[in-house]
Amino acid sequence: MGLLSLGTPLDWHTSREHNEHVRANGIQQLINIFRQHQDRVLDPFLWGDEVEYMLVDMDDANKTARLAIDQDHILDDLNDPDKPEISGLAEAHNISFHPEYGRFMIEATPLRPYDGTDLRDYAYVEQNMELRRRVAQSQLPPHVVPLTLTSYPRMGCGVFTSPSAEPIGPASQSLFLPDEIINRHARFPTLTANIRKRRGRKVAINLPMYPDENTKLVDDSIVRRDLFASDDEPWLGAAIPGHVYMDLMGFGMGSLCLQVTMQASDIDQARYLYDALAPLTPVMLAITAAAPIFKGYLVNQDVRWNVISGAVDDRTFAEQDAEPFKGYDLFGGLAVPAELKQHVQHLGGGRGVNGDRITNEYGDTRMRTLDGKCIQKIPKSRYDSIDLYLGDGTYHEQLYFHSGYNDIFLPINQKVYAELCQHNFDEPLAKHFAHLFIRDPLVVFSERIELDNSIDNDHFENIQLTNWQTLRFKPPALYGPEVGSEEISRKPGWRVEFRPMEIQLHDFENAAYSVFIALASKAILEFNPDFYIPISRIDESMATAHKVDAATKEKFWFKNPAKWNLDPKQFKGYDLSWFDRFINDGNDTLSTNEVYLDGYNGQRDSRFNAANENEPDEARLTANEIINGCDEYPGLIHMIVRYVSRSLVPENCINPKKHCKVATTAEQLKVIQSYLRLVSMRASGKIPTTAHFLREFVVNHPEYKRDSKVSESINYDLVQLVRRLTLLSDAKLAQRFFGKTLAARLAQQALAGQAPNGAV
Ligand code: ADP
Ligand code: MG
Ligand code: MG
Ligand code: MG
Repeated sequence: MGLLSLGTPLDWHTSREHNEHVRANGIQQLINIFRQHQDRVLDPFLWGDEVEYMLVDMDDANKTARLAIDQDHILDDLNDPDKPEISGLAEAHNISFHPEYGRFMIEATPLRPYDGTDLRDYAYVEQNMELRRRVAQSQLPPHVVPLTLTSYPRMGCGVFTSPSAEPIGPASQSLFLPDEIINRHARFPTLTANIRKRRGRKVAINLPMYPDENTKLVDDSIVRRDLFASDDEPWLGAAIPGHVYMDLMGFGMGSLCLQVTMQASDIDQARYLYDALAPLTPVMLAITAAAPIFKGYLVNQDVRWNVISGAVDDRTFAEQDAEPFKGYDLFGGLAVPAELKQHVQHLGGGRGVNGDRITNEYGDTRMRTLDGKCIQKIPKSRYDSIDLYLGDGTYHEQLYFHSGYNDIFLPINQKVYAELCQHNFDEPLAKHFAHLFIRDPLVVFSERIELDNSIDNDHFENIQLTNWQTLRFKPPALYGPEVGSEEISRKPGWRVEFRPMEIQLHDFENAAYSVFIALASKAILEFNPDFYIPISRIDESMATAHKVDAATKEKFWFKNPAKWNLDPKQFKGYDLSWFDRFINDGNDTLSTNEVYLDGYNGQRDSRFNAANENEPDEARLTANEIINGCDEYPGLIHMIVRYVSRSLVPENCINPKKHCKVATTAEQLKVIQSYLRLVSMRASGKIPTTAHFLREFVVNHPEYKRDSKVSESINYDLVQLVRRLTLLSDAKLAQRFFGKTLAARLAQQALAGQAPNGAV
């Protein structure tokens, strides 16, 4: 979430008059950003994570656990320079707190990014995360706890907030969620309402119910009501039978996720990193799966992704190429000429023989809004998996990318595309931004319309930040003449954000996945694998990643390992036991000590040749094969371990026998090892995903009636379970969840007081 502008957010019907203005100026701002930063090089690999929390009010006497919507003042306090005794706490602990969509949510990040070339910083992440929780808790009453549960199981079921509130709000018009769950800042209710107004109806998310013995495949929480015209939508086709129906942004934006942002050395490196991470997005979604319950129902999927995707889907019927509900407008809230409205009231016209709407290759239907913008066919929500690679251009000697990998239908803003091409953006890059710029701004602040494009970037960010994809390519900001070039070079540069992961219950897990992604990125940049597969394959894998237990039961499209352009021999021996061998002198079963740092077969074999051309380009691999590798090829963990051994271990901690001689370094390496172990075990299925664990908990709960419903008391017990895991207060439970080795390590860590003992 970018900084919140202060000002007056415009209602959709006024704000839409500025759509073209925002886009046209946003693109000029982007061009200026490129002008200012295109040539920056050698930026350090800095990185940081974002953790989101939900504040849950535990009432142990009445056995309820509800979302606290009256504690959001802590965010103001934690950011208020006039309250140094509170805001100073965050700063002193290197923490930054941010608002999020839900009034019950907070987000926290490290205040200063981590140094990705320093082993100590990887080992520090978890401490910082623990402190965030502690600082937040210090400002809350003891019965309100910040939890990192991806989706609150009973969101939208009767009374689920504290204090209670009724679902009668005008911003959302939801049948289930009150407006009081939405952040108070005017941006958020406006965003909510504007999505509905643009779309011309409420959002509609339908998740398949988990079919249990007594499950009635009917969502009986949908009630007849007569408060808003939109109340009829479930009966007009918005709700799909056999599915759990949800009708508001809050169901998705109220889910929590874990994001990691990394800075590349320059724009070319950022583009390669973005592309290389793309095929990993479904895999990481699957192994972090943590959301099996929505609106009081067990659902037949494990993750939040399609919920949040549907939750902010502002496309009109025309854009979705769908027949409008009876009495609804094909063009939703778009301002279109009256004649067009009269002539085209449903999708009958303008169709080819196969029934498809006739468009040009970019989805242009040749229909125009009043301001001349073409109305396009748009296959995906603004919140979705990425639609194209950025292209690794000049980054590698050997070009990995070719345009055939960008193989899905891609609506672009042709005007923006032409403008960017004129300013020397190459094709993939121009298409990337021209694709983001098919969207309308959702919130325009009246005070921030006329801007100086040479120093402001609000209009660019307005479109950029409301394209919520699995990866985000983050350009630097724009700086005015008062900022010297030396200073600019220290400001954030070209960054890549990894966004698919679900939040995990314990800070150990969140640290583990964040560190994993940062180290995987470092390893990718060190060894330069070719991971390109067609984008359509990644989309297929995204759908796969939603399935129940996808982490262990499904396969994902990936580049055929024979074509990664890596010599597998280089990675032999770099499994998790490398840490033990390096740390524990004399514990080596092999004949030479050289093994520890240089690998069994140190250098890339000069005879090594890339796979022969006849090998297929793609393969379907399990998460286990991708993460843990096998005899024939390295997995990500081998790449990471080799990277750690060669580039992250400080020279001066290696003794003549090539072992680790410094105890603190050894401890830091053990921490990294435990993170990699967690990820490895989730991928191999040795320990359950959070989603699997939570589903099992509900299914085995004595009060569960095998009807897929999660009652208020099951919900309370589940939240208690989550709390016990978060606090590690139940050793047996921790063992079941983390497995014996990791549970022992966590217990030891807690005992040793490695957990920070800051007096918060
Ligand atoms: P957003 O919500 O837009 O993704 P946030 O500010 O919430 O952005 O989070 C950005 C993350 O990037 C934080 O973890 C922050 O520490 C980290 N970060 C800050 N500066 C840099 C940088 N120069 N390079 C990489 N990461 C950075
Ligand atoms: Mg966030
Ligand atoms: Mg953020
Ligand atoms: Mg983010």
